[in-house]
This record gives sequence, structure tokens and C-alpha cells, in this order.
Amino acid sequence: MSDRRNRPLSPATKLAQALRFLDEETGAIVPPIQPSATYARDADYAVRRDYMYRRDTNQTTEHAEAIIAELEGAADCMLFASGMSACTAVIDLMDTGAHVVVPDVMYHGVLQQFQRCKAMGRLDVSHYRTGDLENMARTVRKGETQLVWVESPNNPDWDVTDIAAAARIAHDAGARLFTDCTGTPPCATRALELGADISFHSATKYLNGHSDVTAGALSVPETGDWWEALAERRKLQGTVLHSFDAWLLIRGMRTLMLRYEKSTANALALARHFEGHDAVETVLYPGLASHPGHEVAARQTGGLFGGMLSIIVRGGEHVAIDVARFCEIFYPATSLGGVESLIEHRKTVSGEGFKVHPALLRLSIGIEDVDDLIDDLEQALARAAG
Ligand code: PLP
Repeated sequence: MSDRRNRPLSPATKLAQALRFLDEETGAIVPPIQPSATYARDADYAVRRDYMYRRDTNQTTEHAEAIIAELEGAADCMLFASGMSACTAVIDLMDTGAHVVVPDVMYHGVLQQFQRCKAMGRLDVSHYRTGDLENMARTVRKGETQLVWVESPNNPDWDVTDIAAAARIAHDAGARLFTDCTGTPPCATRALELGADISFHSATKYLNGHSDVTAGALSVPETGDWWEALAERRKLQGTVLHSFDAWLLIRGMRTLMLRYEKSTANALALARHFEGHDAVETVLYPGLASHPGHEVAARQTGGLFGGMLSIIVRGGEHVAIDVARFCEIFYPATSLGGVESLIEHRKTVSGEGFKVHPALLRLSIGIEDVDDLIDDLEQALARAAG
């Protein structure tokens, strides 16, 4: 028998066993859902184990948070009712007038929040070119910038930012680094180990993986006043993740490793197939050796590049929309990171005012048979080209 006493358990084992859940009373190996909205005080009129009201927190959500904190190597994790409510809570906690540095191409919902704060004079927002560290270094203001925001890989271009280098730039300026690595979950990219101060994931995506929950996870390497203020904000805004959703998330995370590996393998095969294809101008996927961020992505993900890629089709916007319409296996739907493959014409979904190529199709590659996916895209491209 191997001696594994000095070897930490791998993420795959921790995930599959939901941190080795076992109900000592019954022997159940699946965690229960705790739906109670309120908690009775004890005979001394004291709250039991800090539970009072579900808007603060609940055991099921705490269990999901513990799993993510373990994966991230974090001191703590907090789960919100969506990725957007988690990001918005961080933005709302910034001092009025604070200088923040954010990418010019990123998830459009978060970008809109920054644009709104800038227009209201709430925040002083500067943009750097996504993935361009020199540009980021020129954009931060030493002693003034409070937060640097990184999305890597970025949505929908899948450019890669070197997180360790970005952390050095942020810290030299006296700022904190926020990372959104939704496209590469913490079984692939451990942003806190690379120097991030706040790691965020839209748990709606890979962490849950079944397109039946919205959730957002924030993790930190150390807790303190800011973390407590964030918990207070979550409580007062009523944005804690519901226990039913937390239970689904725990269930989804049990298969994260398998799903993510399969999506990565499928995406790589599909990207290689369509790179250089007559009907396709560009394939944007960090797993391709030709991608400018390939080496950094390989280092940051351990070679697990994920299932997200975009293609720019020849013929322009209308051909791209037709390709999305003509797919029979890919669902023409937004979101990403689920077991089923999705295709979307990004410009239609994000709307005007965002830097997105008009012929860009975003593909979220699931766990189906990859030949079925390739054949489907082939027939849609052929039909759209007329
Ligand atoms: N960040 C990224 C990179 C995303 O892709 C998304 C959603 O697509 C979000 C944040 C927002 O997360 P949610 O949809 O869970 O609110």
C-alpha cells in the first residue's frame, strides 16, 4: 500500500467527495439542504452556532464555500446569488473617487458597472489594453490606484494576462489585484497563489457546470476588516447564495475535474480542426500553440486551457449570425462552462458600445462527442456560406 501520509489530497479527490462529507449520525455521504430562513435561539436566548437568519448565511452555502476555499487555497470564500452580485459588491465597497484600473475588453456586464460608476463620478476608472502588461503598468498611478482588475482569459477574445506579473504591477503601485478567471476554474488556475488579492469566479459557469444555477464566488488569502464589510454588504443587500442553489453547486462541483478535462480536450480538438479552415478567419483559443498567450496560459492552467474559444467567420456579421442559427447540436444560447455546448453571436448579446468583432462567434464547448460538434459546425458554416 502506498504511503500517502505526507502527500496532500489532490483537488479531484476533494471535489469528488465534497471535502469528504459524512454525516456521523446517519452515515449519509451526501450533504443535506438546509432551507430554513430563520433559526430559533437556545434556552439562554443565545444564537446557536452563529445562525440567525438565512440572509446572513446558512450551512449548505458554507459547505460550498469551504470546497471553493480549499480549491483556491484561500483563507475564506463567500458565495453570492450571481457572479454579477459578487462583482458589484466589490465595486460598491470602493471608496468614492477611488482610482481603479480595468481592462478595455472584458465581460460586458462588469464593464457596464464600471462605466456606470465612472459616469456618476463614483469612481475614477482608467482602462488598459487587455493582456498588455506594459500598458497596465503605464495606467496604474503609484500610491493612488486602489484596485487593478484582471480578467484572464478575457471574454470573448480569450486573451491571456500573466497574473503573477500583474500582481507585481498592482502591488508596486500600492493597489490590490482582483482576478476574474471564470474561464479557467481553480482546479486549473489558482490565482491567489499567483499573487491575486481577491479571486473571483462566476460559479454559474464551470464550477456548477449544469446551467441550472447562478452564483458568484469571491476568495481571499486573508480575512480582515474589508472581508467583514463585504459580508455585511452581502447580508444587507440580500445577495447570499440560496441553500438550494448551493446544494446544486456542491453536486456540480463533484464532477468539475472530469467535466473540465473533457471540455478542454474537446475544445482543443475543435480549435485545431477549424484553425486554417476556409470559412474561418481566426480561431481564438489559448490552447493553440499559435495563440500569443499560449505559454502564459500553459503555465497558469497546467495545460488545462478550458472549453472556451471564439471564431471569427469569413463573410461578416450576417454570415456569423446564420452560422449560430443553423447549428443543430450547439444550442444558440448565452452563458458558458456547462456540459452542453453553446454558440452565440457575441455582438448581438453584448449590444452596442463594446469592443467586439462583428463576425465573432463565442463557443462554449461541453462534454459531448467532439466529432458531433465538429460536424455540426461544419454543416452550419457550409449552409451559411450558401
Ligand atoms: N465574469 C465573467 C468572465 C463572465 O463570463 C460572467 C458571465 O458570463 C460574469 C463575470 C458574471 O457572472 P454571472 O452571469 O454569474 O452573474
